Amino acid sequence: MFNRVLIANRGEIALRIGRALRSLGVEVCMIHGREDRLSTPVRFSDDSRPILRSNPLDSYLDIEAVIDAAKSMGVDAIHPGYGFLAENADFVRRLEEEEITFIGPSSDVIRLLGDKIEARKAMEAAGLPVAKGSSESVSSADEAVSLASEIGYPVIIKAAAGGGGIGMQIVHDSSEFSSALNLCQSRARSAFGDDRVFVEKYIEGAQHIEFQVLADGKNAIHFGERFCSIQRRHQKLLEEGPWLSDEVRSEIGSKVCAGAEAVGYRGLATFEFLRDSNGDFYFLEVNPRVQVEHTVTEMITGEDMVQLGIRVAAGESLPLTQEDVKFNGHAIQFRINAEDPRKFVPSPGKLWECHFPGGVGVRVDTHAHVGYDMPGCFDSLLAKMIVWGKDRNEAIARSRAALAETVIIGVDTVIPLHRAILDERDFLDRRVTIRYLENHPSILED
Ligand code: ADP
Repeated sequence: MFNRVLIANRGEIALRIGRALRSLGVEVCMIHGREDRLSTPVRFSDDSRPILRSNPLDSYLDIEAVIDAAKSMGVDAIHPGYGFLAENADFVRRLEEEEITFIGPSSDVIRLLGDKIEARKAMEAAGLPVAKGSSESVSSADEAVSLASEIGYPVIIKAAAGGGGIGMQIVHDSSEFSSALNLCQSRARSAFGDDRVFVEKYIEGAQHIEFQVLADGKNAIHFGERFCSIQRRHQKLLEEGPWLSDEVRSEIGSKVCAGAEAVGYRGLATFEFLRDSNGDFYFLEVNPRVQVEHTVTEMITGEDMVQLGIRVAAGESLPLTQEDVKFNGHAIQFRINAEDPRKFVPSPGKLWECHFPGGVGVRVDTHAHVGYDMPGCFDSLLAKMIVWGKDRNEAIARSRAALAETVIIGVDTVIPLHRAILDERDFLDRRVTIRYLENHPSILED
């Protein structure tokens, strides 16, 4: 096992990774920007280095500064968390050169999976179902129109280097193509520095379902699925699991393991799919890192995902078999974002009062505390509340009680929206697609 690990991240995930490291007996090192110098994960760390930049995001994105900090603290490995440098193949390549272990897959695998066009090809070859779409990038409207008439409308234009739902455009007929293509390309260029886009069948009435995978470079196992259809701007707000029958879980589960093994994957991965109303699955992408919602899987399997990811990075082979993975009960995660619950505009500010719930089956992962100054420059995730019950109904009932005793004063949060969802008929009846919030525009008024 490692002696010291640097967490190149901040917020709730830095705290979460610190817990896993400490329980493995590993020393926790942190980097931090100006805003985070007094943050909970930094205060609990064994060692830390400031990286002060005028743009606060750069404190966590400056590859050479992170490597210098890692060397000065004498760490054996770096945990990237999610976001920032977690999917940056250049960063991982530099760590390989410096012989510092990256807790995640190799730079080659990250590069392959970071390109949605290449990832689609690799996973199709490994036997995963993919939606009809282009196998190369599309640059002209004419090319896109002829492809779309083969695929059938509606189609979606997506960035090859995409992430965070940025730039996606849905196209219903050929007249919309050229402006949609331009828009997607320009968003992709400014967000990812890569304007390659591709066209894919738009799956209507789809549900977002993803599989949690752990692999050691040779073998892979899965920890079942999470249902993540409640999204705002293509970003998840509420996640739950399990969702599928045992038969479907083992059928898709064995496919994702084959996909991970085909690329020599090492570490935690999430295989994301859309499922249409016929029950057919379509591969979307692989997220080669720990995800915000890994907690749902931890609650229903009792396994520590973050710790397992660290152990395989340290060179252990998979410490459990597929048969060892057992599912128990139902869990729901609520992302408590500091945002206006109607318009989702970020709401930074100081927390004057802050009380989180507890009790049987209730877990809160957060770096927030009374007096915490929620910065506006990072993402708006303030806390995650994860609630477990013997079945979905018990999880929902406990969630209502837990949200009722959550108090955050000083910033707006999406708690009122979560409480409204928990009382909404379609949600209770599991009639949820990725358009759930658009289809319930007055959920907060009803
Ligand atoms: P990103 O990496 O930007 O998050 P994804 O490919 O993972 O992009 O898709 C994110 C979300 O965008 C999905 O959960 C879904 O809501 C929507 N989406 C993406 N592709 C399609 C598609 N082919 N049909 C319908 N919706 C899609």
